[in-house]
Amino acid sequence: MSRADRPRVVVVGAGFAGFEAARTLCRSVRDQAEVVLLNPTDYFLYLPLLPQVAAGILEPRRVTVSLTGALPRVRVVLGEADHVDLARRLVRYTGPEGETGELTYDRLVLAVGSVNKLLPIPGVTENAHGFRGLPEALYLRDHVTRQIELAAADDSAVREARTTFVVVGAGYTGTEVAAQGKLYTDALVRRQPGGKRLPAPRWLLVDIAPRILPELDRRLSDTAHRVLRGRGVDVRTGTSVTEATPKGVQLDDGEFVGTRTLVWCVGVRPDPLVSEVGLPVEHGRLKVDPRLNVPGHPEVFACGDAAAVPDLTRPGQCTPMTAQHASRQGRVAGHNVAASLGHGETRAYAHHDLGFLVDLGGVKAAANPLGVPLSGPLAGAVTRGYHLAAMPGNRVRVAADWILDAVLPRQGVQLGLVRSYTVPLDTASPELARVPGGPRKE
Ligand SMILES: Cc1cc2nc3c(=O)[nH]c(=O)nc-3n(C[C@H](O)[C@H](O)[C@H](O)COP(=O)(O)OP(=O)(O)OC[C@H]3O[C@@H](n4cnc5c(N)ncnc54)[C@H](O)[C@@H]3O)c2cc1C
Repeated sequence: MSRADRPRVVVVGAGFAGFEAARTLCRSVRDQAEVVLLNPTDYFLYLPLLPQVAAGILEPRRVTVSLTGALPRVRVVLGEADHVDLARRLVRYTGPEGETGELTYDRLVLAVGSVNKLLPIPGVTENAHGFRGLPEALYLRDHVTRQIELAAADDSAVREARTTFVVVGAGYTGTEVAAQGKLYTDALVRRQPGGKRLPAPRWLLVDIAPRILPELDRRLSDTAHRVLRGRGVDVRTGTSVTEATPKGVQLDDGEFVGTRTLVWCVGVRPDPLVSEVGLPVEHGRLKVDPRLNVPGHPEVFACGDAAAVPDLTRPGQCTPMTAQHASRQGRVAGHNVAASLGHGETRAYAHHDLGFLVDLGGVKAAANPLGVPLSGPLAGAVTRGYHLAAMPGNRVRVAADWILDAVLPRQGVQLGLVRSYTVPLDTASPELARVPGGPRKE
C-alpha cells in the first residue's frame, strides 16, 4: 500500500484518552495507516498535578508533555474541531490563528474530554473561575499571590476579603485546591514584611454533600477532612452558594462571606462538541458500546470523559470521569480501531477501579491504592510515585521541582500574564486563555 492510499484515522483531543488512543494505534498499525491527532494545544496536559501549579510547587510546563516529542509517528494538527460531518466523514476545525481546515477520515476517535459544569446560581458565571485548564491554574496562582500582596498594603475592611478564599465543590479537585492553597497562602503571609499584622488566610471549602470527597471511599474523606481541619480550612458540608457578587458569596446558611476569590470546582460536563455531533447521548456523554464504538457508525469511536462507556464491572452504570478510566479506554479504542483496519481482534472495555489518590500538599495525602487505605507521609509518597509513573513524560523535571520545593521557599511572584477576563467560567475551551479579538469557539 502506498502512503497516499493508507486509511486515515483522526483522533480528536489529546488528553488522557486521545493521547493513549493515538499511541496504541501507531504501535498496532505501524505504517499501515495515517494517524492524525487534532488538539488545540501542542501538549498533553497531566491534569491531576494542576493544583500543584496553582500552589506554586510546579512550573506550568512541567505538567505538559510535547505531543510531537512523545508521538513521533503521529501527525499533530493544531486546532479545535467545531463540526463533524458524519455523512461525508469530515472534521472541520479552527486553528490557533483563526484559520479553518478540514480533515477527512476513515476512522474517527472522539476524545474531547470535559469542561466546567455550570449551575444556575446568580452571579456565579460572572464572579467565579473554574479549574479545568492550565490558564485557570496560572490565573489562580497569580490572583492568590496578588490578594496577599494587596492585603499586606491595605488597612481597610477589604483586607479581610482579600485574605479569604472560597472553593465550591469538595470533590478531589476542590479538596486539593483548598488543601494546597492554604499551605501556599500561609507561606506567603509569613514572608510579607507586614505579615504579622495580616489575618491568617481563611479558606472555605463548601459542598452541598454531607461529606467531602463524596464520591470516594469514606476513609479517604475522613483522612482529608482531618488534614484540612488541622490546617485551619473551614469545611462547610451540607452548604451551598445561593449568590455570588464581586464582593463575596452568599451561603444558604445565611452567612455572607466577603471574598475576592471564588473557585468553582462543582464538577465537569462533556465538551460541547459532543452535543454538536448529533449522535445519541447519555447524561450528555456520547453513547458507545463496550467496544467503544458508536452504535450505527462502525467508523466512529469515543472514549474518556466525553463518552458514556458501559461499566462492565458495575452493570447498569457508566464508567466515572477519571484519568484512570480515560487512559485505559484510550488504549482499548486505539486497539479496536486498529482491529477494524485488520490489525488484531477487538475487545470490550472492562476495568476495576484501582483506588484513588488525593494529594493534600506538604507530605500529606489520602489514598486507597488497590483498596488499602493510606494516610500521612506514606500516602504522600505513594501518590507522588504514582503520578511520576503515570506521566507519559517530563518526569525528571517534575521530580526536580518537588525536590526544590522541599528545600527552598515558594516563589511568591505573580507574573499577571493570565487576566481574569481571559479565563471565564463559561467556556468551551478551558485549555486556552481567551484573547480579545482572537479566535474562539462559541
Ligand atoms: C484539576 C483536576 C484534577 C484531576 N485529578 C484526577 C486524579 O487525580 N485522578 C483521576 O483519575 N482523574 C483526575 N481528574 C480527572 C481527569 O483528569 C479526567 O477524567 C481526564 O482528563 C479525562 O480524560 P479525557 O482524555 O477524556 O479528557 P482530557 O484529558 O480533558 O482531554 C481532552 C482533550 O481534548 C481537547 N479538546 C477539547 N475540545 C476539543 C475540540 N473541539 N477539538 C479538538 N480537541 C479538543 C482538549 O484540549 C484536551 O486536550 C482531574 C481533573 C482535574 C480537572
